Amino acid sequence: MRMAWPELKSAVAMCRDCALHARRTNTVFGVGDEEAEWVFVGEGPGADEDALGDPFVGQAGKLLDNMLAAIQLKRGHNVYICNVVKCRPPGNRNPEPEEMQKCGPFLQRQIELIGPKLIIALGRIAAQNLLARDASIASLRGRVHEYKGVPLIVTYHPAYLLRNLPDKAKALEDLCFAVATMQRLQSGTIDPT
Ligand code: URA
Repeated sequence: MRMAWPELKSAVAMCRDCALHARRTNTVFGVGDEEAEWVFVGEGPGADEDALGDPFVGQAGKLLDNMLAAIQLKRGHNVYICNVVKCRPPGNRNPEPEEMQKCGPFLQRQIELIGPKLIIALGRIAAQNLLARDASIASLRGRVHEYKGVPLIVTYHPAYLLRNLPDKAKALEDLCFAVATMQRLQSGTIDPT
């Protein structure tokens, strides 16, 4: 896929490659700084996102904004937010492997066009999809992985944290690790991959 932003956005808006298109209100492309150093990737739109066409605008989104604030980041400022799938899975079920596979080239092209220094995978579904590995969040946290040559760090999904408040402290640890990693990437003291 070699599309530039305008073609990519309209390809997503018109996509009918999997069954998710049939029940969507809006596609949810992604939002933020298209030259961001940070990209946060969730799994897929929920009801609020489907209604508005923007990622992470419901309760989980509020927590994500608070998580960003905790590390002095702000939606849209050097930050881009998107999902593995661009259409809402019905009833907020997990996206099916085939749906993620069909949507994968869109995410890959978004990340290529942005050229971030660091990707944060939010939750198991995003982490497993981006890393093409069946592993638990617990086993993937605390290390720098890689997606197509871009360093990637894994943390909990904000919707999970809303249900499991004690794990918020671990998510904060992950974000502090991400900040330290970003500083090393910016200063060139670690290789990107
Ligand atoms: N959960 C996600 O994974 N993505 C969203 O955009 C909203 C909730």
